[in-house]
Order: sequence, then C-alpha cells, then structure tokens
Amino acid sequence: MLLELQSTIIYGPIQSRRIGTSLGINLLQAMTKVCTFDCLYCQYGWTDFSCLEKAEYPAPEQVARELESALDKLSTPPRYITFSGNGEPTLHPDFGRIVDLVNDIRDGRAPETGTAILSNSTTVSRPGIREALSRLDLRIMKLDAGSETMFASYNRPAPGITIEEITEGLAALDDVTIQSLFTKGPAGNFAEPNITEWIARLKRISPVLVQVYTLDRGFPSREIEKLERDELEEIRSRLEDEGISAKAF
Ligand code: SF4
Repeated sequence: MLLELQSTIIYGPIQSRRIGTSLGINLLQAMTKVCTFDCLYCQYGWTDFSCLEKAEYPAPEQVARELESALDKLSTPPRYITFSGNGEPTLHPDFGRIVDLVNDIRDGRAPETGTAILSNSTTVSRPGIREALSRLDLRIMKLDAGSETMFASYNRPAPGITIEEITEGLAALDDVTIQSLFTKGPAGNFAEPNITEWIARLKRISPVLVQVYTLDRGFPSREIEKLERDELEEIRSRLEDEGISAKAF
C-alpha cells in the first residue's frame, strides 16, 4: 500500500530506521507530491511533473511558527529535525532562509537536536543550495544509479537532469551521506554493470557513509522486487572492500 502524503508542514516525530527519532518538516504543498524524480519505488506513487510549475509553498515564517509550536509540545526533543516530506525539500524557493530559521529555533529550543535533510540530490549542482545544505548537521543525499541509462529508467528524472551533474555537485559537498535504494527484478538497479559504475561515482564523491537499503513500503512499479538481507550485505561488503564506509538497513 502506498503511503499517504503529508497534510501538514510539521509531522511526527517518527521513528526512522536510519536516523532515530525525527521531527519532519514538509516544505512542499499539502497532500501534493512535488518532486524532480519519478522513482520506480516511490512510496507516494508516480510523480506528475506539472507539480513543478504549479506547486504552492509555505512561507518561511509559517514554517518557523509551526516548528516552534511542535517543539514546545514535545516532552523529549527528537534526535533530528529533518527536511523531508512530500518530495524534494530543496525545491522550496526560500530553502536557504528556512534552513537558517530552523537552525536558530533548534539552537534556542532543542540544542542537542541535529538538523538533517533527505534529498534526491537534483539541486546539488547549484552553489546556493550546496551552501544551505552545508549549514545542516546531516545531509543524506540520494544516488541509486551508476549509468545515465539506469538513472533515466530507475529515477525517471524531469527533463535536463543528469547523473553526471549530480555526481559533480555531490563531490563538491562536504561530509555527505549517500542513500541508495536497491531493488532486483527486470527494472532493478541490483545488476551489473550498474553497481560497478555506482561505486566509481561514490569514489569521486568520497561520502562519509553510504546507507544501502531496499523496499520497505508500498511502491508503484511492477518491475522491481525487494532484496534479501544477504544481497544488501553483499553491496555493503563490496563498498567496505573499496574503503567506503557503509551500513545496510
Ligand atoms: S525522490 Fe523521493 S519523493 Fe521523489 S520520486 Fe523518488 S522516492 Fe519519491
């Protein structure tokens, strides 16, 4: 079953497999997926790219007010305040300003809490976005594919986005954690030469950690399948052999 889209700016806290307790920030329109990818495995279903022109975004002051209110109601601060939500958070036109507001609120109300983002990496080639990302404590950036062909069929990007430009942008970002979702089946990325080419891109990026994982929720494609635990471990082990820190979830 597909996941229901978020109807609010602040949601959770949720218990995340990869980062622990997380208070989510959705900078995208309520109940509308706004994304530059149309991944075969998206928990929200297929993307309608017309959203990129039509989407409405919350004002930075409203995001700040709702975050303050949500934090004030919690008895225990979350491990992270995380930009995620209904698609790609960096598409918000005031993303950099919101990062600064969120960091200030965190400093005042929950100084032990980290600020994080789950991003699909499609805006990382823009210097202004990279600067904003670098002001967060944790950047978890998507890279599922090695070749342009696998990228086009697996992540199904909006026109003009290439894996090469994303790789260059990620390589220019400090302390980056990469997230990679692997699947098998006729359209899956758990295949050669994709994995070898993906590892070559990781070597250019030099991430602090690579998170490898597989399907956990509903997904729209009928041409992908969940990996077994030992297959995820095989990927992790190949990365460790190359000197790249990795965890399988
Ligand atoms: S990047 Fe995330 S939100 Fe966008 S289509 Fe892929 S899985 Fe869905």
